[in-house]
Amino acid sequence: MTYKISKSDQEWREQLSRQEYAVLRQAGTERAWTGELLDEKRTGVYRCRACDAELFRSDTKFDSHCGWPSFYSPLAGDAVELIEDRSLGMVRTEVRCATCGSHLGHVFDDAPQTPTGDRYCMNSVSLTFEEG
Ligand SMILES: [Zn+2]
Repeated sequence: MTYKISKSDQEWREQLSRQEYAVLRQAGTERAWTGELLDEKRTGVYRCRACDAELFRSDTKFDSHCGWPSFYSPLAGDAVELIEDRSLGMVRTEVRCATCGSHLGHVFDDAPQTPTGDRYCMNSVSLTFEEG
């Protein structure tokens, strides 16, 4: 996969904070219930913190009670890239930004209360929120 925005490891390290780099570029996970966007309820758009691509809108955000900001659908199907992740002895689906390849979180099909049944479980540090 070739990404529209491609930077060297060094460039990402300079642009991102230590925690952002650990999640976005090394597929880390922020601690549950600590993310600053967890309780964000305003109307607006969520962008990739690494490249500013629009990823989610507030109208698909829902309370999943899992400790991370959750959405039932990305803004557009091609905004994110889904990759099978077999780390930690589990089979999960990793969600990456389709524009820059940065790690955002995982998607699970365990949200029957939403229109899609999907729970895009995202790290707050992977996203920025813009009201409007
Ligand atoms: Zn991105």
